Amino acid sequence: MTSTIKSTGIVRKVDLLGRVVIPKEIRSVYNFVEEQEVEFYVENNRIIIGKYHKNCIFCNSDQNLIVYEDKLICGQCVGYINKNMVLGAAQ
Ligand SMILES: [Zn+2]
Repeated sequence: MTSTIKSTGIVRKVDLLGRVVIPKEIRSVYNFVEEQEVEFYVENNRIIIGKYHKNCIFCNSDQNLIVYEDKLICGQCVGYINKNMVLGAAQ
């Protein structure tokens, strides 16, 4: 994952129960809707929140998933991509 960390300048307090509200501006820009599941990553002493994807990003399958560059891809789509990349390279 290549990362470009930018400060938004937005500051929030963690409440007594450990909750933090994701600012509306950020939810809007990154399309975080109600009930969106989020996943927490840590990198260099920072906590990063991202959308949690539990299905293939291409076909939405939940079968035979692998993680590639922090994205889930199913085996069928990996096969399809591999086949087309080989064919594409030959052209
Ligand atoms: Zn797929």
